[in-house]
Amino acid sequence: MLKVLGCIVYEHDIRLVILSAVICILGCYTTTTLLARAGEAPRHLVDRWLAGAAATFGCSVWSLHFVAMLAFMPGQQMAYHVGLTVFSAIVASVGAYAAFIAWTARTPESIRAVSGGVLLGLAVSGMHYTGVAAMSFSGFLLLDRGLVTMSVASSIAFSIVAFARASGLNTKKNQLEVASWFALAICGVHFAGMAAVTIAPGVADISAGTVLGTALLATAVGSVSVAILISSLAAVTVEQHLSRRALQELGRMRLMSNLAQEVLFIHRDGVVLEVNSAGERLFGAPADHLRGRSALSLFAVESTPALIRRAACPPLDRQPEEVEVRAVGGVSVPVEISCQPIDYLGKSATVVALRDLTDRKRDEARIRHLARHDALTDLPNRYSLQERLDLSLDVAAQQRSSLAVIYIDLDRFKPVNDLHGHAAGDALLIQVSKRILAEIQPSDTLARVGGDEFVMVLTSQSQPEKASATATRVLDALRQTFEIEGKRVEIGASIGIALYPQDGTDADTLLRAADAALYRVKGEGRGALRFYEASMNAQVQARLQLEQELAGAVEREELVLHFQPIVNGVTGEVETFEALVRWMHPVRGMVPPLEFIPIAEETSLIDGIGRWVIEAACREAASWPHPWRVSVNVSPKQFRRSDVCGVIAKALRVNALDPARFVVEVTESVLIDDAAQAVLTLLQLREMGVRIALDDFGTGYSSLSYLQLFKFDKFKIDKSFVRKLGKTEDALTLTRTIVNLGHNLGLHVTAEGVETEEQLAILRALGCDQIQGYLVAKPAPMGSFTELARLRVMALFGRDRPRLYA
Ligand code: C2E
Ligand code: CA
Ligand code: CA
Repeated sequence: MLKVLGCIVYEHDIRLVILSAVICILGCYTTTTLLARAGEAPRHLVDRWLAGAAATFGCSVWSLHFVAMLAFMPGQQMAYHVGLTVFSAIVASVGAYAAFIAWTARTPESIRAVSGGVLLGLAVSGMHYTGVAAMSFSGFLLLDRGLVTMSVASSIAFSIVAFARASGLNTKKNQLEVASWFALAICGVHFAGMAAVTIAPGVADISAGTVLGTALLATAVGSVSVAILISSLAAVTVEQHLSRRALQELGRMRLMSNLAQEVLFIHRDGVVLEVNSAGERLFGAPADHLRGRSALSLFAVESTPALIRRAACPPLDRQPEEVEVRAVGGVSVPVEISCQPIDYLGKSATVVALRDLTDRKRDEARIRHLARHDALTDLPNRYSLQERLDLSLDVAAQQRSSLAVIYIDLDRFKPVNDLHGHAAGDALLIQVSKRILAEIQPSDTLARVGGDEFVMVLTSQSQPEKASATATRVLDALRQTFEIEGKRVEIGASIGIALYPQDGTDADTLLRAADAALYRVKGEGRGALRFYEASMNAQVQARLQLEQELAGAVEREELVLHFQPIVNGVTGEVETFEALVRWMHPVRGMVPPLEFIPIAEETSLIDGIGRWVIEAACREAASWPHPWRVSVNVSPKQFRRSDVCGVIAKALRVNALDPARFVVEVTESVLIDDAAQAVLTLLQLREMGVRIALDDFGTGYSSLSYLQLFKFDKFKIDKSFVRKLGKTEDALTLTRTIVNLGHNLGLHVTAEGVETEEQLAILRALGCDQIQGYLVAKPAPMGSFTELARLRVMALFGRDRPRLYA
């Protein structure tokens, strides 16, 4: 070692030594810069960069050697053999190229470092000793073996260290470090190698053409050094320019991708290189942690086959596809994946776009749910009932089991809705649905199919007894008082039941059968349940037919009016005739109003029929020889919907009938549904001079509060009370109370349905103002009420009011 140091200090021109070191360092740094570029270059360009690096390195070794040779002052005149001098440069460059290729091979890192290092060490040593061999002079040249071995070994060792440290060449620091190890490898050979050389005195052997003199060598080395400097300068500039551009490009790309809503990431060979901020949010990790990860690890395991299949097909054939990613917290998130090849920092890569489908899926599910469910109660609607029923029927058919379809219709729901408002009605429906649900099994279905109509499908308990038990529990539950907005509300329900397979085998038939059973319950006064019977269908059919026939009844002039007298309770004198409509059906004969008026009310035919009755009654009354009043029944629907006031006013005007001779009979239900509007209409009628009677008093709600809403002219005690008179003590007490109530309110009281003389006597004794009933006269065409009949009635009453003997 001392010999080597001594050689440098005493046998060399120190300025030239420094120059050679500078050239060497610069050359080595240029080499590492070029190697770094080779690492980032597209695969097909890697070799070129490596070749450039090898040439630079070779020239650096070479110029160091010869500058140092110039600095070497063994006191000799020196000449160099041209061929060997040039060959030594080739040895260095080709050897370096081989070393770089070995270093970039796809072998384990340690093998790459060692193989690269050995080759590079040999290249440097080879150049050096070829250079030494090129010296041409007359003296002797002695080599110290130990130092030669040491020089080669040190060069190999430094080269191995250089490659071992060259894993992060993209940083300046690492480039400088590796460049230093290269420089040491070169200097090590050279100075140890020169120390190994001992030159005996002699003369330079300058035989023309084959050798270079010191001056020529100086020129050659100078040019090569300059070339190295220039190329290193150029490489550094290009490098800086390229990396600045690459950084700018990267920055722009990141900015753009961060603005995107979609998750974007770039991968090369399945390794993530870049990911945008949407991706950071989705995967719940910063980009730094995601870079370098396997792209497959970002996806749910179930999606792996789909992704591998995708990767295998050509980029242009890849349609967007649905897969699942493993998002933050391990949750699987559905995404739509699409890929595009791109050029990323000069090399091909793939950009992957992931569109989060969570919102879309949620919206789709919500829309699907809305389409199948009732918005208010969230129960399945009619559409999804049909689907579920079809499915249940399929299952029942396969398992040879049975099932029950149950129609539920709420009683008195409409009055609650009208009296307390729609919000209360909605709240009630929600409570109703909860109460019904509490009575059925999770496997059963409850659907809301109309305003206050529900359908249950019981699959769990299909025998008639069990279906009936469930339906009874539902009836009981709905009979219990509800509390809506602090108010107590009572409703009830009617239920119709149909069974599979006995009552039908398809959804439609079963629903119709349950509806027919329900219709029967409603006809029988509601609040109960019925099973479907085959005869019910016939009734429904018959009703449908009646409805169709009724539609043309007015035009075909099939309606007629019968009249029933209402007489003075004291004298028996006729005061009013109640007009009662009949339908003279060409085939069925006379149809009583109780059979067709309800149908007319349900189908809006009531408007036309009601108008016809009013007009016919006025026409008739105008033709009477006595100024009797005519009393006309106006049904609640007709009262609410059609312009009753207008129709009556017109009929009175057309027939020149005194309004005071016209009586409108309405029932309490007119006030229940929309009290305010009803009172307005009633006041309007009163203003016209028409009289207004409250019909059927004592039935229905019989609430005194309705009597306070509007002051009627009279009320008619319902025939159900009159019928019981003389039979029960209660009936007498009740009738007396009603009569007294009416009189206290300043109203007239009429008793209807009077059939016996006993009833007549009691009612007269109670002070009833008017009497109506079969005892006096049955309803009949006006012509049949003769003078004789009138006198017979008068006789019935005698002169004095009988005294009550009870
Ligand atoms: P309502 O207004 O209570 O009419 C009285 C009903 O009692 C009539 O039946 C009449 O025939 C019957 N009646 C009268 N006296 C007696 C009696 O002593 N004993 C018995 N058992 N019944 C008696 P009708 O004519 O069958 O009418 C039934 C219901 O049809 C009426 O009850 C009324 O609500 C409705 N109605 C009748 N005509 C019309 C009409 O033109 N328009 C509307 N909207 N409804 C009508
Ligand atoms: Ca009546
Ligand atoms: Ca009545």
